[in-house]
Amino acid sequence: MTKKRLSVSEYIQGILHSDRVMISRAITLVESELPTDQLIAEKVMEGILPYSGNSIRIGITGVPGVGKSTFIENFGKTLVEKGHKVAVLAIDPSSQQSRGSILGDKTRMENLASDKRAYIRPSPAGSTLGGVSARTREAMLICEAAGFDVILIETVGVGQSEIAVKGMVDFFLLLMLAGAGDELQGIKKGIIEICDAMVINKADGANFEPAKNAKREYANALHLFPEKENGWIPQVKTCSAVEKTGLDEILEMIMDYRERMLANGYWENNRAGQRINWLHEHIRYLLERSFFQNKNIKNHLDQILPDITSGRLSPIAKARELVDIFTKSKGEKLDRS
Ligand code: GDP
Repeated sequence: MTKKRLSVSEYIQGILHSDRVMISRAITLVESELPTDQLIAEKVMEGILPYSGNSIRIGITGVPGVGKSTFIENFGKTLVEKGHKVAVLAIDPSSQQSRGSILGDKTRMENLASDKRAYIRPSPAGSTLGGVSARTREAMLICEAAGFDVILIETVGVGQSEIAVKGMVDFFLLLMLAGAGDELQGIKKGIIEICDAMVINKADGANFEPAKNAKREYANALHLFPEKENGWIPQVKTCSAVEKTGLDEILEMIMDYRERMLANGYWENNRAGQRINWLHEHIRYLLERSFFQNKNIKNHLDQILPDITSGRLSPIAKARELVDIFTKSKGEKLDRS
């Protein structure tokens, strides 16, 4: 059975009333590739924008198996018990191929998922990281407008997706393990540079002491990085997501970060910069889509493709030619209007 189409104001009212069904439907709407849905989605986003932004946005990354879902489940519980409303979102561009979407597995975070004060949404499907992260950003604003005041965005620590998450959060947390060979192995230096805190998980049982030692080593390693422009020195903490130890301390650290960044103006500056990037990203997305959907371009591409594949034609020269054709056809359209 197809559901009745909703109006823009029905979506907006549903979101503002924190109606979970409407939140889910609105997120499905922004994830839709249909041009008609996208037009409605744009209006819905415009309508809810003034109500968004009142949250702490936290990015969480780490290699598979480090304990991200266990951490998010119990950290999320800690948050709701302190009166927060928590939304959990994800960016996993690999989910398309592997079908193993993070947060997609229903057995994960069951406890938090059944809590009325929390909302969990799996990673949107998509062929490009840009598309996947744009959808997550919109889902984040929808959740904020619905009154969620903590947004946790999970991503797998294996590639570019953490840069995308960093570009939409206030605080970026890297989960790590002790004793995984050389202490800085496995995690790219670039990710250590962008994190606001490193948390060594599984600090329990026989792993308690190694975790404490690792904490010291990481803290020393972090001193080698230049100070951040916001004056924050990345912290190193230990926790046990399973035994729920160290979680309060992590929350205190994030609250302390928030207070300091609000006071020195970085909080708002960072978000302002993120909004500009968002604008640029969306311009690129719209241009690219309009380019590749252009009939003229499609025909030209089909014609030259064999010669590009064989190496007879220069991709650089042809790219410029195609862009010229595209801008010219757009220009003619404007002249006529
Ligand atoms: P993810 O792949 O990063 O989401 O990791 P999971 O949350 O699925 O956890 C991977 C495995 O590590 C599971 O078997 C968890 O039970 C276990 N695990 C997660 N956190 C802890 C912890 O704090 N201590 C211990 N001992 N095991 C943990």
